[in-house]
Amino acid sequence: MRIRAGYATDIGKVRDGNEDSFLAEHPLYAVADGMGGHLGGEVASHLALETLERLSEEGREDLSERIRRANDAVFERSVRDRNVSGMGTTLTAAVVAGDELHLAHVGDSRAYLLRAGDLRRLTEDHTLVARMVKAGEITQGEAEVHPHRNVLTRAVGTEPDVDVDESRVALLDGDRILLCTDGLTGMVPEQQLRAILESEPDPQQAAHRLVKAANRAGGVDNTTVVLLDVHGDDPSEDPARDARPGVPRALGSAARRYGLRAGMVVAIVAALLVALRVYADRQWYVGEHGGHVAVYQGIPATFGGFRFSHVSIDTDIDAAQAEALPLYADLASGITANNLQEAQAIVDQIRRDVRAGSQGQPAGISPSP
Ligand code: MG
Repeated sequence: MRIRAGYATDIGKVRDGNEDSFLAEHPLYAVADGMGGHLGGEVASHLALETLERLSEEGREDLSERIRRANDAVFERSVRDRNVSGMGTTLTAAVVAGDELHLAHVGDSRAYLLRAGDLRRLTEDHTLVARMVKAGEITQGEAEVHPHRNVLTRAVGTEPDVDVDESRVALLDGDRILLCTDGLTGMVPEQQLRAILESEPDPQQAAHRLVKAANRAGGVDNTTVVLLDVHGDDPSEDPARDARPGVPRALGSAARRYGLRAGMVVAIVAALLVALRVYADRQWYVGEHGGHVAVYQGIPATFGGFRFSHVSIDTDIDAAQAEALPLYADLASGITANNLQEAQAIVDQIRRDVRAGSQGQPAGISPSP
């Protein structure tokens, strides 16, 4: 089986942090929804997936045992570090093994199978309301609007031990598997999920559309989606070539591990460039421009093709004459100043030293006033 994956994670419209994490490292796919305050939620979902990924790379144990080990890691950390005490996470993981999908699950994130137009839920929510529905105390409709619908009866990392639900699905050509956090299923009815999954053939586009639908419906929670499209149409497929299909390999593994999308990396770089620009606008230096000494605003550097300075004051002092003096030999690379006044003082000093130099006097005075 060949897998094409798509994924998306989004902070939503209300929360000010994203405590969801996901993994898309063929053959392992997972979503996790952390809880326990901002820091705790983020740490719990990252740590659980990090542990799961590491154990999977080592090829140790089966999927449920790896999740129990992830439980140990999160629980031990929450006991040791009181900044994150009480944290926990949901975890819904899938491993593609030949023609089979192995699922392991704790919490209220979900796995679905879209097959031949039918959307089937593969996991059971470990919530108080799901238990009440099962016991016949409330209806499914009442559960969906119940004030305690977010209360989990099971999570990874909140107790020393955890029960893991396990199941297996025999995969067929054309199957589409959806792993998602409750930010999606709490906002978008299953009928609409099915419609989006049915109408968008590209898994990456479909993942984006699902997140968009959750945000359009209010986006009250973080939403994370991992989609797997199963293609059984190429029996000659070389398993080595099959590694990490649909996952951009250029992304660093840390970026994938922490659920950073390429777009987020671009946004972070852009933010850094803006920050550098703002910082640069408050800096000054004396340099060379068009053969003359000049005062620049900015820093004497370029980064990724961006210049972080511009000429503020041009002078008529010959740059070559200034550079001939030992004190100003590296004028071309910029003599930095703390402010405009200091830059002007440096220019005045250069002017005096150049004059003195041309009159045959040694230059040895500090450029600072
Ligand atoms: Mg959530």
